[in-house]
Amino acid sequence: MIQDKIRSLAKRKDALILAHYYQTMDIQEIAGAVGDSFELAKISAAAPQKTLIFCGVRFMAESAKILSPDKCVILPAPDAGCPMADMVTPADVRSLRREHPGAAVMTYINSSAAVKAECDICCTSSSAERVARSLREDEIIFLPDQNLGAYVAARVPEKRFILFPGYCPVHRRVSAEDVREARLARPGARLLVHPECPPEVVALADGAGSTSWILNEVENAPPGGQFIIGTETGVAERLRVTAPEQQCFLLSQSLLCPNMKKTKLQDVRDALDGETAGVELDSAVMDAARASLLRMMAV
Ligand code: SF4
Repeated sequence: MIQDKIRSLAKRKDALILAHYYQTMDIQEIAGAVGDSFELAKISAAAPQKTLIFCGVRFMAESAKILSPDKCVILPAPDAGCPMADMVTPADVRSLRREHPGAAVMTYINSSAAVKAECDICCTSSSAERVARSLREDEIIFLPDQNLGAYVAARVPEKRFILFPGYCPVHRRVSAEDVREARLARPGARLLVHPECPPEVVALADGAGSTSWILNEVENAPPGGQFIIGTETGVAERLRVTAPEQQCFLLSQSLLCPNMKKTKLQDVRDALDGETAGVELDSAVMDAARASLLRMMAV
């Protein structure tokens, strides 16, 4: 069976397989560590293995490489990108800095290494509020996700936010109408959403937070609960395994990220067989991007 072959190859080659929660369950099952982008970046930095097989999208593998430049980090599906990360360029950041010279620039971890290198600090969906409060500047340029930016701005009213107009095409697909239909179909279920969803959806939810927060809420709730999950389908699939005593329903069937589903078991096996090149980044870009990531980790 290919999964057993992958496990023994990983052991023999002393490689760690990491998988994001949005990966398909067959990929999550062969991983040595599963987490959200922030958890996986921390795990990759602390891992003793010299080879990391990163089952996710490019910006995640880049973050792992930035934090562990001496390791070989392989993205098994090299064309798995993130459309939201691709919406903002280093030139955009430089232009925003010129327009708002006194503002701090804060980027969501869902951005390229080159963009991180131009920013002052990174954040994740779970740390964004804390990171914003930690900045001494009163004005913050937030990129690339305008929805997460609006969510943070509402919680940190003492700062003025300039939001870059980027968005996650997957989370943006859900609407207030989806919420109305889901509530009608599952009255009494708790609606938990990711802040990448549009603000009108977040406003109608019973709670909003990172992927890990949603997983924890469901896994630690009293058995027999009903939940409507407003984030990528991989999370609901995982909950069917990790919290079988709960009933979980997807807010919308459109919550599927095609890039996250690009990784196949064969790709992971090929990566372990040395058929896929490791992530390569310019060392100056890595140094500057690492500074942004480490500032976030210090908050
Ligand atoms: S779910 Fe959205 S933010 Fe995450 S990788 Fe897919 S497109 Fe990017």
